[in-house]
Amino acid sequence: MTAKTAKKSPVAKKTKKVTRACQNCNGKCCRYFALPIETPEDWDDFDDIRWYLCHENVTVFVEDGDWYLNVKNKCRYLSEKDFRCGNYDLRPHICRKYDTDGCDLTGDDYGYELHFLDDKQMEEYMRIKFGPNVFEKLEPKKKKKKTKKKNGR
Ligand code: SF4
Ligand code: SF4
Repeated sequence: MTAKTAKKSPVAKKTKKVTRACQNCNGKCCRYFALPIETPEDWDDFDDIRWYLCHENVTVFVEDGDWYLNVKNKCRYLSEKDFRCGNYDLRPHICRKYDTDGCDLTGDDYGYELHFLDDKQMEEYMRIKFGPNVFEKLEPKKKKKKTKKKNGR
């Protein structure tokens, strides 16, 4: 895989080969970015990641032991007409250094060690990691039935 770390970016080397690859692509590398996050260690860390995953268009993956927050959100400069960059001359450094070798179009499967698509998947993972009843502590406590004592009068 070649997700970009603070991963992202597009049209790389200006070789004919690369140009051809990008010409046959809808700009896959311009449709998301991924940021490294701290490796979670305890419940609170995993619960924070569960919160990230409550949000739409966000996934979290692990690659080579490193955790990443992946935001599926197209760059405003990617044209949907010709899939070219509308900011090519001023494109950020990360876009300039991105290479088509093993890019999102030409690379193999990403081979994530883990990939969470939503908070429910993280919940399942947390149940395995911390115990099947671990979310019970978050559930509202059941109200005890009030028993009226008869005072006998
Ligand atoms: S994913 Fe690869 S082929 Fe597609 S635009 Fe980006 S660098 Fe070019
Ligand atoms: S600035 Fe251009 S090259 Fe960089 S992500 Fe946006 S569309 Fe792609």
